[in-house]
Amino acid sequence: MSDNFITEIIDANLREGLPTIATRFPPEPNGFLHIGHAKSICLNFGLAKRYGGRCHLRFDDTNPLKEDTKYVDSIQQDVRWLGFDWGEHLYFASDWFDKMYAFAHRLIDAGLAYVDSQSVEVVREQRGGFGKDGVDSPFRNRTVAENKALFTQMREGKFSDGTHVLRAKIDMTHPNMLMRDPLLYRIRHATHHRTADDWCIYPMYDFAHCLEDAIEGITHSICTLEFESNRQLYDWVLDAIGGWAPRPRQYEFARLKLDYTVMSKRKLLRLVENNQVDGWDDPRLPTIAGMRRRGVTPEALRQFAELVGIAKNNTTVDIGKLEYCIRQDLETRTPRALAIIEPLPLEITNWPKERIEQITLPWRADDPSAGSRQVAFGRNLFIEADDFALDPPKGWRRLSVGREVRLMGAYLVTCTDVTTDAEGNVIGLKGQVDLKSQGGAAPDGRKVKGTLHWLSAPGSERAEVRLFDRLFSVASPEADPDVDFIEHLNPDSLIVQSKALIEKALLTVDSESRWQFIRQGYFVADRYDHGPDTPVFNRVIGLRDSWSQRPDQGRPERAKASTSKSAKKSMTKRKPADIRAAARQQDSGLALAYNRFVQEHGFTEEQADLLSADRAIADFIEEALSSGTAAASIASWAVNQLLVLHRQSSMSQRPMRGKQFGELVGLTDSNTISKSAAKSVLAEMARTGRDPTLLVDELGVGKAADPSALVGEAIDGLLLEYADETARYRAGERQLMGFFMGQAMRRLKGKADGQVVRTELLARLG
Ligand code: ATP
Ligand code: MG
Repeated sequence: MSDNFITEIIDANLREGLPTIATRFPPEPNGFLHIGHAKSICLNFGLAKRYGGRCHLRFDDTNPLKEDTKYVDSIQQDVRWLGFDWGEHLYFASDWFDKMYAFAHRLIDAGLAYVDSQSVEVVREQRGGFGKDGVDSPFRNRTVAENKALFTQMREGKFSDGTHVLRAKIDMTHPNMLMRDPLLYRIRHATHHRTADDWCIYPMYDFAHCLEDAIEGITHSICTLEFESNRQLYDWVLDAIGGWAPRPRQYEFARLKLDYTVMSKRKLLRLVENNQVDGWDDPRLPTIAGMRRRGVTPEALRQFAELVGIAKNNTTVDIGKLEYCIRQDLETRTPRALAIIEPLPLEITNWPKERIEQITLPWRADDPSAGSRQVAFGRNLFIEADDFALDPPKGWRRLSVGREVRLMGAYLVTCTDVTTDAEGNVIGLKGQVDLKSQGGAAPDGRKVKGTLHWLSAPGSERAEVRLFDRLFSVASPEADPDVDFIEHLNPDSLIVQSKALIEKALLTVDSESRWQFIRQGYFVADRYDHGPDTPVFNRVIGLRDSWSQRPDQGRPERAKASTSKSAKKSMTKRKPADIRAAARQQDSGLALAYNRFVQEHGFTEEQADLLSADRAIADFIEEALSSGTAAASIASWAVNQLLVLHRQSSMSQRPMRGKQFGELVGLTDSNTISKSAAKSVLAEMARTGRDPTLLVDELGVGKAADPSALVGEAIDGLLLEYADETARYRAGERQLMGFFMGQAMRRLKGKADGQVVRTELLARLG
């Protein structure tokens, strides 16, 4: 594994004396693993390997309703297949239910948790919202004894579902909504796949997960970015209970998103349940089991995880990167075999009926150690139907009437005659070979350009060949909220050819063995259906990327040899603006981003064009816009500063996040820092991914470097806004001090010292 921001953290921890590291991969057993999980597996197990630590496989089975042992089994199989080993460290969250229950009692004893007897809906309503404080539950001040008794009765099954919950007692006005007295336990009379009916109360994720980590001695608990604001609660629970060594810490990284597919388990489950695919391991799905059945190797998946790296920014990865890794890997490991997907008979009229010649072909021309086998050549041959054209286009190098081509490793053949059916479809060819061209070389040295693969009737067998393509025909099937992703399914994602031919040697090969079918692509003998009596091969992937050349993203077509040259030529001549337009044409996610930039955020067309040609930038800008800073400022800073940095090294590989960029631009808008100071902060941010406010402090570039000036400014505004309260305070209502403190602290977003705030308040309230 190469260096990333997490290895930097670990290196520092080890330098500071942490003896060893422990990570975990914590799937919820409610579906099959997908390639996003593979990234997380490679990261967590990869870190353990790199640092000689350990990685636990832990099933997060705290929700009895959605879980199933069939998922537990498939997940273990997939992790092993990917090449990782948890040794003796297989755990289930449910292993720790007793301990968690005891810890909950400890929180109650410490006055940090209470039983609430309101419905979950009421609890949710009382939480308030952003800028709106929550409301204390009427049960918030129950005594410890009362809470203990009720919680014990909850556990004993005295109550029905939904009547009581256990909540943490934190702060109903906390700026982080997750900290507003979150639920710790709920009642669920349900049978659990491991603990059966032992429990009727189940812990919530935020309470359970940190405890699982701490109980198992995890040092680095790595999760995806959506859990960023859960970190505060993670720390609160662990600190409230205390006594942990090592004390685990949570770190977040960007989840993997791939285009041309969907990854959420809920959506995958829908495809499976609606029979839109053939089970969780359908070769078109991005599940690990699906990709295995498709013929992808674990090495290719690990290589892909390494290639996309670990970042702090959510971006969608071009599926071409995955396909590149798959091709690279298969290119080096597969023998080359003969197969004909759509056979067209070719009778060699100058070849004696009974004569069979055994032709020796190497499994790999570039590697004699791969060995060779014999393939029978005779009078009745087959070639690929689309290697023949009745009316050949210019530059055609394959067969047509009167033309000569090479039959790979055998003879030169000239087509002499064509048979068609009533509708004019070609159904058979006749030809003559040059008997002196054995091995494929012309006796007189004449040039024959085209070389075709072939099989003979006695040297081949029928096989079923399954041609898979991308499951969706657009890059971002989930991008438009008004269109169901199912609508974008690619109707040609599976084409079954039951009359394909394979060379005889392939009859006896193992299932899951992988082959290159010459000129056709990489294939695998199907994991389940392949056998000597029913040979079945799946196409893993074509030999080259045929999608990147499709301007309309329409039906997959094999790249035509005759067009590739001119396509290449026009590629080198394309202007940057054309390339950007083409990127949007290929990727509807980018097209949508362009529209949003112009219509919702008021970017100029030029700005929108520059900022929507690349997923890494477009996603980054979308995140920056969510910071609340004026869109016009973001657009202008992005075009003038960000694109330059991006060209030096992609935003997807940088630790800086879109939100931080938005915040930085906000600081110049509010005149907190000057433009030139902002540029140096940006450079530092782009390098380290640290928060702009921190860097402004550290570099001492803030205009209001004097903290009491900043506080003073905020308080002046506050007193103006609450003129009534100010007057009442001055008239003697001193208890309003608490109100002013609260408002001021919130306004300063916790960036000021409470003591300073109090002093400034007292000074100004007189
Ligand atoms: P989904 O959202 O697809 O249903 P999930 O997050 O609910 O997945 P879990 O079983 O809870 O699935 O995930 C187990 C681990 O895998 C978690 O640590 C999670 O962060 C990680 N993970 C899940 N999806 C991805 C992804 N797309 N990229 C990277 N890591 C992921
Ligand atoms: Mg989950």
